[in-house]
Amino acid sequence: MARRKKIYEGKAKILYEGPEPGTIVQYFKDDATAFNAEKKDVIDGKGVLNNRLSEYFMTGLNQIGVPTHFIRRLNMREQLVRNCEIVPLEIIVRNYAAGTMSKRLGIAEGTQLPRPIVEYCYKDDALGDPLVTEEHIAAFGWASQQDMDDILSLALRVNDFLSGMMLAVGIRLVDFKIEIGRVYDGDFQRLIVADEISPDSCRLWDIETGQKLDKDVFRRDLGNLTDAYSEVARRLGVLPQSNVPKPTLIN
Ligand code: 5GP
Repeated sequence: MARRKKIYEGKAKILYEGPEPGTIVQYFKDDATAFNAEKKDVIDGKGVLNNRLSEYFMTGLNQIGVPTHFIRRLNMREQLVRNCEIVPLEIIVRNYAAGTMSKRLGIAEGTQLPRPIVEYCYKDDALGDPLVTEEHIAAFGWASQQDMDDILSLALRVNDFLSGMMLAVGIRLVDFKIEIGRVYDGDFQRLIVADEISPDSCRLWDIETGQKLDKDVFRRDLGNLTDAYSEVARRLGVLPQSNVPKPTLIN
């Protein structure tokens, strides 16, 4: 097999140069990290599930006109995506209080918020991705005011789409993180949803039982992570047919 040029290796993914100009191959690893990589493990099958789930969400977003970097899935662990310049911000949308918001503001986890709240963190592992305001973003030139208007609109559309999709399968979308990339069409710049959307980057709770079906299972030692992600994939009908138990044939 031809050697591919590795462009970047992150905590959960590796990026390789793509087969055509302007493309990238995104490889999903089984590595799980939390608390800025203080907690680490290798979770068999996580990469395969996140590859498929991210494909599913990004394809749906493309279909409703929310542009994403996703082009097509290549195999169990890899997808072809558009090369883009990542805006150095994590965009977090919250529907219910949890995680750092609950800690920061003393609001009990699970409290429904009066409306979706969008937060921005500066992408810098060494600093632990600190929360920043639009003042910081404008002053340091990380994104323009027009970019921020577009990012807010994209984030809220992704929230509505994912919330509805999850509600339909009995899952509450508590919060999630997305990343945004810039692509250039001639002189025009467009912003697209990039990176991944998966249970690694969302909080997903079963509506009936409150059971956690996301990376908090790993962060908080609540059980088997692939079981949780498989349950999300199963409910969405994303798991390949071969992974669904075969019915017993009578006669
Ligand atoms: P929190 O700020 O409460 O830790 O996270 C809010 C939401 O954003 C959660 O769904 C969490 O999974 C996601 N999130 C925040 N930071 C990161 C990150 O660095 N990587 C990933 N994969 N998700 C993140």
